[in-house]
Amino acid sequence: MSAAVIYTDLDGTLLDHYTYSAEAARATLATLRGLGVPVIPCTSKTAAETRVIAAQLGLDGPMIVENGAAIWVPDHWGLTRTEAGISDGEMWCHGFGIPRAVIRRQLAILSIEWGNRYQSLCDLSDKQVMSVTGLDAASARLAKERHFCETLVWLGTPADRIAFADQVKTLDLRCVQGGRFVHVLSSGGKAEAVSWLHRKICAERPGFEAALSISAGDAENDVEMLQVTDLALLVRSPVGDPPPLKRAGGLVISDEFGPAGWSEGIEILLDRVEEERASGRFLPKRHDHNAA
Ligand SMILES: [Mg+2]
Repeated sequence: MSAAVIYTDLDGTLLDHYTYSAEAARATLATLRGLGVPVIPCTSKTAAETRVIAAQLGLDGPMIVENGAAIWVPDHWGLTRTEAGISDGEMWCHGFGIPRAVIRRQLAILSIEWGNRYQSLCDLSDKQVMSVTGLDAASARLAKERHFCETLVWLGTPADRIAFADQVKTLDLRCVQGGRFVHVLSSGGKAEAVSWLHRKICAERPGFEAALSISAGDAENDVEMLQVTDLALLVRSPVGDPPPLKRAGGLVISDEFGPAGWSEGIEILLDRVEEERASGRFLPKRHDHNAA
């Protein structure tokens, strides 16, 4: 029986903001493997990028990609595939939004007014992506394999970005601010994807009926996710103050940055889960009444 499922942002949370290393979280990841607590990436990265990172970290479960616009689930997890789910033979994908090509066409409506204040990540050369992200050449190429979300390098001011987000809403799209980029997506988002997947895991995966959901993130695009899970970890960032959160409890804010802060906070939250279990007082299950 698994006590919890961890849904975690990658950049700046499980991975160091500058070096993309998860070294400081390795020991905690090993502990979680021993406890049977799955760690599910929930990231603005593409499926192609996330697969490589998940393999390096020894994570072989589902992954939530492109800011929650799509979920990939390995067949061996035994979850039922959704009707619209596409498959590549080993994993199936549930998409929440419209394809990126359609988002781009919509955004083109705003390009006369705003086009000089952003650049699509996918329009940059691999070298340019390497220079804005610090990724190596292979990772930079994978970062451009986006299917459900348009990722923008913001060239304007922060105030411009807020005004642009308002305009984007009039197109029935939404902007979310990540650690580095602005992401434009149609629907879904990390919170919706986590709620959808957690309900499915509890309902369909044996031994997970009472599993608590734990989320971990560092930036504004993690806030909604951090508000819907049973427990949450806000990892401190070297490039900004922790974003404000609306939660009644069950929140840890790390002292350390990135993967060191991730380990620090996850270990505190695991103790909290154990205390709840030992006392027989189970925490309320948020996703039961948080149908997305
Ligand atoms: Mg992040």
